[in-house]
Amino acid sequence: MSRIALVAKKVITPDTVIPQGVVLVDGRKILEVGPRSAVVFHEEEFEVFHFENETLVPGFIDVHIHGACGHDVMEATREAMTVVSRHLARHGTTSYLATTVTAPPIETIQAVESLGQLITEDTGGARILGLHLEGPFISQEKRGVHPPEHIRLPSTGIFDELVKMSGGQVRLITVAPELPGGLEFIEHIRSRGVLVSVGHSNATYEVARQAIRAGASNATHTFNAMRDFSHRETGVIGAVLTDSTVWAELIADGVHVDPVAIQMLLRCKGPRRILLVTDAISAAGMPDGDYRVGTLSVKVSQGVCRASNGALAGSTLSLDRALRNMIDYTGIPLEEAVYMTSRNPAESIGVAESKGSIRPGCDADLVLLDNGLLVQATFCEGKLVFREPEHAAQATERSS
Ligand SMILES: [Zn+2]
Repeated sequence: MSRIALVAKKVITPDTVIPQGVVLVDGRKILEVGPRSAVVFHEEEFEVFHFENETLVPGFIDVHIHGACGHDVMEATREAMTVVSRHLARHGTTSYLATTVTAPPIETIQAVESLGQLITEDTGGARILGLHLEGPFISQEKRGVHPPEHIRLPSTGIFDELVKMSGGQVRLITVAPELPGGLEFIEHIRSRGVLVSVGHSNATYEVARQAIRAGASNATHTFNAMRDFSHRETGVIGAVLTDSTVWAELIADGVHVDPVAIQMLLRCKGPRRILLVTDAISAAGMPDGDYRVGTLSVKVSQGVCRASNGALAGSTLSLDRALRNMIDYTGIPLEEAVYMTSRNPAESIGVAESKGSIRPGCDADLVLLDNGLLVQATFCEGKLVFREPEHAAQATERSS
C-alpha cells in the first residue's frame, strides 16, 4: 500500500483548524496530522501532494441519497452503484447510505439483497456504508411521492425479512411513529441494532417525544413530509427542534426548506446536531428532463424534481453545494459547516471511530476545497478518486 503526504493551506479536522497542515496517509488510514513545522517525514518515502491554496476537510457522508447520473440505487447493480459512487466523489462525498424508497415488496427485497452484496465492493468512488430504508412504514398523509399502494403498517416480520435479505446491512430506517404499533415497532428495530429516523410522519409532538424515548435518534429531512408546525401543536418539528440529542437531516438546496427555517433550525439545534443530506435522485448531475426515483416517474425542471401531482420528489443537490448554501444562508464558518457534512453524520450512524474526522487511525477520507469551496480533489480510504482536471494539469506542469 502506498504512502502519501498532503500539504495544505489549512486542515480542518474539524475539532481543530491547522494552518499549513500536513496529513500523512499510510494505505487506507491516516497516520499523522499536524502543522508543517511539527510533522517530520522523509519526502522519498511518500508521494507528496502540495495544495498551497486549498483547505483539507474530512470526506462528506450522505445518510440520505437515492441516486445520481441517471441511476437509482434500487437498480442495485454494480454498474449503477459505480456511476453513483463516482458522481458523489466528484462532489466530496466519500461514503453514504444507499437509500431505498417505498416500492413493491418484491422490488425492495431484490434491491436490499443486491445492495447488501455490493457493500463490500470497491465502486471506484464513495463507499457504501449500509442501507437507509425510506419506507414502507410511513404515513399516508405525509407520504410525499411514495406510492400509496405500497405503504405498509409496521410489521416486524417484513422488517426482519428486509434486514435478513440485506445481509444485516440496514443501518437506518425512516418510520412514522404514529402508525398502529409504531412505538413497539421502534423498540423492535432498535433491538435489531438498526437506527430509527422519524419521518414522512403526521405525528403530534407527544407521539414524536414517545418515539424518541423508544429509541428514535434521527429525523428524516426535517420540515419536509412532517405535520405542519403550529404553535398549538408543534408536531415532529417541535419535538426535533427542542430535543438536544436528535440528529436532524436537512436538505439545504434552498427549495425544500426556506433559508429562514434553516436559520431557526440552526439556532435550535446548533451546528453539532444537523446532518446535511442531499436526498438526491437519479437526476443529480444530469440535465432537466424525465427521471425515476424507485418505481416513480419524476419531472425535473431547473434542477427541481417534482412528481405529476407537483410534490417535491427528492433533489439534484450535492453535498458540496449544500455546504456552500449552509454557509450562505446562516453565515456560519466553514469549520462548523464541516461538522454537518462529515463528523455529525459519522456519529449519527455509529461510524465515528473510522469516519468523519481527520485523525490518526481514521480512514483517509479527505476532500480538498478551493477558496470558493469547490471540490478540487477527493481521497477515499487513501485512494485519489477525483481530481479537478485543471488542477491536475497545473500539478503536472509544476512537476515537469
Ligand atoms: Zn428520500
